[in-house]
Amino acid sequence: MARVYNFCAGPAALPSPVLEKASSEMLDWNGKGLSVMEMSHRSDEYVSIANKAEQDLRDLLVIPDNYKVLFMQGGATAQFAMIPMNLLRGKATADYINTGQWSEKAIKEAKRYCDVNVAASSADDNFSYAPSQETLKLNPDAAYVHYTPNETIGGVMFDYIPETGDVPLVADFSSSILSESLDVSKFGLIYAGAQKNIGPAGLCIVIVREDLLGEVVSGTPTAMDYKVAADNGSMYNTPATYSWYLAGLVFDWLKQQGGVEKIAVINERKAKKLYDYIDGSGFYANPVAKPNRSKMNVPFTLKDASMDASFLQQADEKGLLNLKGHRSVGGMRASIYNAVTEDAVDALIAFMQEFASQNG
Ligand SMILES: *Cc1c(COP(=O)(O)O)cnc(C)c1O
Repeated sequence: MARVYNFCAGPAALPSPVLEKASSEMLDWNGKGLSVMEMSHRSDEYVSIANKAEQDLRDLLVIPDNYKVLFMQGGATAQFAMIPMNLLRGKATADYINTGQWSEKAIKEAKRYCDVNVAASSADDNFSYAPSQETLKLNPDAAYVHYTPNETIGGVMFDYIPETGDVPLVADFSSSILSESLDVSKFGLIYAGAQKNIGPAGLCIVIVREDLLGEVVSGTPTAMDYKVAADNGSMYNTPATYSWYLAGLVFDWLKQQGGVEKIAVINERKAKKLYDYIDGSGFYANPVAKPNRSKMNVPFTLKDASMDASFLQQADEKGLLNLKGHRSVGGMRASIYNAVTEDAVDALIAFMQEFASQNG
């Protein structure tokens, strides 16, 4: 069976060894005679799967003990509401940095719960860069500062972690978690929808500093209260058991690759090759400021947009799938997450070269 090269932004490629393992365990997990999907989440077997997944994630990101790891549902989008509900803690305002469409969605949702101060925005230049620390207009009375370290659609990545003093920093790491090492202690809360670098869609990982828990906005649904989730080991209600298990297989795979430091070296190399090729091609272009170019999502345009359709069709025929840019920006986008191999990037570049030489 042939697996294609999948450059989808999300749900994204998963490592083949992970899918093979899941497949081998589908009907019978560990000789227990049943699928993980059919297990009680309270059973010893499932609790061991869940605990191992959490521990492996803690190891991979070196998560300090005073942080809770929550396996929530509703994707990253549900967090756009859960964050203000849980983190306003009596305050009326929060700071948001706006670097693109995901920031904007987070801002729009937060406005239902509080005053949003847009501390900086790169809308003035079509979201093609990340505002620098010096330009952030932070409010010392803000409940928290929210930003999107990697904008999946625009392909814009922060090259620094904002300094916010005593105000907790909140980050939507949906499309870059586990792609390189991270100093978790710099954050009040980190969240990431699973379907880019972790596992199946629907699951969302939340890593939150303990002292921020326990003071929710009145009316917050119980299932959305981080403290309730933390006190119940993310099992206040039935969790997304199979997604959690599959995320665990991905964490295990990542450990076998040598962890985040090792995969970061590969990611760096993959991204550099692709950007170097684009920049030198005279046929393709990427609009993002060089220091802020995403290592996970690489948008690019062709010299002439009228060739887009034939580029995509020929790519498809070569088994290079899902290269179409987001519907809002057009052009192309190659998402090159952890599970997208260096071979895939090499095959993409070879195809891009061939296409450019035939159409340039
Ligand atoms: C994909 C994505 C989301 C939305 O995730 P859902 O699971 O669809 O809610 C939010 N933020 C970023 C940065 C993303 O890449």
